[in-house]
Amino acid sequence: MGLNSKVLTRRKKGSAGRQKARQTLRRFDRHIADRRDDARHKATTRLVQNHGLLGIEDLNVRAMTASARGAVAEPGRQVAQKAGLNRRMLDVAPGEIRRQLTYKAGWTGRIVIAIPPAYTSQDCSACGMRGHVARGERMFACDARGDEMDRDTNAARNIRAGDQRLRPPDRR
Ligand SMILES: [Zn+2]
Repeated sequence: MGLNSKVLTRRKKGSAGRQKARQTLRRFDRHIADRRDDARHKATTRLVQNHGLLGIEDLNVRAMTASARGAVAEPGRQVAQKAGLNRRMLDVAPGEIRRQLTYKAGWTGRIVIAIPPAYTSQDCSACGMRGHVARGERMFACDARGDEMDRDTNAARNIRAGDQRLRPPDRR
């Protein structure tokens, strides 16, 4: 629970103090959302300015955010963990980042290619063998070669490799 939420629950229901705390909390939430929106736009503009070819994972964002609760007959497992992940996903808003990259790339003739995400995190970008995610999910461990690298770097290299495969030969 955030600092502002705590203040809100301490205030008496219907009181002027509670009303004011609610307003402050709303303002704070909007401020955070504006900051995120701004950071997102700056990041996508920078990416499009600095790269001619952008490869992204073709994530089905809606499916990822909807899956945590599960059906009534079959309640989702690890609901708390997944809900946490989904909240972080929504904060980062991959769908919006993809949308911005696509239209900004269109302005300047950049190319955006979405790569199927299957195994981009599990496969070793150096030797192609299956590995596993290690050390609090930050590192990728290659089972074949026995060394580690940054998880995002490994996935990005796999996306780049998939990108090369999808392009016509004369544009590689
Ligand atoms: Zn390897």
